[in-house]
Amino acid sequence: MQQTYNPTWDLDVIFPGGSDSEAFRTYLKEIEQAKEEFAIKVEAFKPEHEEVKAEQLIEIVNHLERVSKKLREASAFISCLSAQDVTDEKASLLVGKRSDLRAEMEAVNSKFVQKLVQVDDATWDSLLQHEGLKELAFVLNEYREKAKELLSVDQEVLINDLAVDGYHGWSQMYDTIVGKMKVEVEEEDGVKSLSVGQASNKLGDPNRDVRKTVFHKLGDAWKEQSALFGQTLNHLAGFRLQTYKHRNWDHVLKEPLQINRMKQETLDAMWTAITHNKQHFVKYLDKKAELLGLDKLSMYDIGAPITDSVKKSTYTEASKFIVEHFNNFSPKMADFAQMAFDKRWIEAEDRAGKRPGGFCTSFPESEQTRIFMTFSGTSSNIATLAHELGHAYHQHVMNDVNGLNQRYAMNVAETASTFAEMIVADASVKNAQNKEEKIALLEDKIQRSVAFFMNIHARFIFENRFYEERKEGLVSVDRLNEIMVEAQKEAYQNALDEYDPNFWSSKLHFHITGVPFYNFPYTFGYLFSLGIYAAAKDQGNSFEDAYIALLRDTGRMNVEDLAMKHMNVDLTKPDFWEAAIQLCVNDVEEFIELTQ
Ligand SMILES: [Zn+2]
Repeated sequence: MQQTYNPTWDLDVIFPGGSDSEAFRTYLKEIEQAKEEFAIKVEAFKPEHEEVKAEQLIEIVNHLERVSKKLREASAFISCLSAQDVTDEKASLLVGKRSDLRAEMEAVNSKFVQKLVQVDDATWDSLLQHEGLKELAFVLNEYREKAKELLSVDQEVLINDLAVDGYHGWSQMYDTIVGKMKVEVEEEDGVKSLSVGQASNKLGDPNRDVRKTVFHKLGDAWKEQSALFGQTLNHLAGFRLQTYKHRNWDHVLKEPLQINRMKQETLDAMWTAITHNKQHFVKYLDKKAELLGLDKLSMYDIGAPITDSVKKSTYTEASKFIVEHFNNFSPKMADFAQMAFDKRWIEAEDRAGKRPGGFCTSFPESEQTRIFMTFSGTSSNIATLAHELGHAYHQHVMNDVNGLNQRYAMNVAETASTFAEMIVADASVKNAQNKEEKIALLEDKIQRSVAFFMNIHARFIFENRFYEERKEGLVSVDRLNEIMVEAQKEAYQNALDEYDPNFWSSKLHFHITGVPFYNFPYTFGYLFSLGIYAAAKDQGNSFEDAYIALLRDTGRMNVEDLAMKHMNVDLTKPDFWEAAIQLCVNDVEEFIELTQ
């Protein structure tokens, strides 16, 4: 008999009883306790008064690792509970509890990190030679160097406290306004009042009139609120710039580059190579316009379907397809995916009451992961499933790495996921049942390149220019619209007819305060994994272990060293990026040939 997989996850093996779990409540108390102990150890650490003993530092660092792991474990469980059932009120309370715990932990941790600055350089260097600290040298140095660039402890505490209302508050205000927005859209059975999310889904409608009408209705809705969004964006950017000014940080990219552990030269080399290859993607956009019977595409045509001939798969079929194709690249990755299906690490059931979207979260203490998504059988669902399994595999190969060396930045976080997604997307194209299906699947792939090379590029150009102008004072709504359209024209190389001036207000990413410049790391991750994919195709069997070694180092190196060590490439030069982009250009060429 054919085996079928259960598309719901098993959380009980981690903590039995869902949001009522007694075991979980006990666990939260353990975290409190461990956090208190950590605070006491940090308090007793006095590098300004006494000579620092390696043993003391090791003890603190080990304690930090334990608490961080526990906190991540608990956070993951809470994420799973709140995603699987949006009506679970006990889960919402736990989300609040989690924010408190994180903030308290963050406060003690920054105290600890500030104390590291007080250790003199010579002592510091000899401390890092010590067994037990050696393997943590990169992250400990990073903590210390970052802390050196901050203001005094008191001033930083004040900034953090004021940021709750003066910074993050603007982002919450944004969410509140967006949540209340409604767009009236005419449907077959009358006029419906839709949320902006629901209305945006209609931009993929096969009928151009529908897309165009919805695009303009959405535009009107954003325009109506633009005075408010102009405020939220200007103020949160203003807060950020003031903080930078006081810390003497003169460049807005300083912080995002630091977070992503990469150099400006790398970022420049990446965008240069992309710009150099844009003409191929313009050719694709022109071809698509022709297929849709248009002179030029508009923003609302880019995601339009050109065929609807892709067949649907069941969850079990998708699972088998993924395992089979992972196996061609890496049997270990295939075994891992097989285990995730067998042990029910995935919540994929298509049912009401689940949160939309997908994620993968890690339980570092249990050495397990869980994947969340809603699977309805489309090819993009299969891609998402493979994507999240890629994230899960990344964590899996890091299970025995020191917890403090497991934290990788967003740009490399998307490496393993995109890599896994690529394997499956390529296999899908190869296995297409007919030409129509092949074209559709190929276009899915090209759409990703267009998103990363053009849409994300526009966001990056916009943010750079906006921040430069914001330094001189408030930027008006009209000017924001103007900068946005200029950025889009540049990023899409004038290939479109109608642009989207309201994009600065409709795209959540500009209003996120957690991480600045929430755009270029996506493109980096995409191309970095494509570079690895190209190498994988060349290397055959030796690839698997080299890939694992690279993933294991993602939390303890900057990206330039990571690429040099494991792929022998220089990310600050365009060659690596050109080679990765070439894979995407090949897709475009095949697409144009097939649609001739
Ligand atoms: Zn991802």
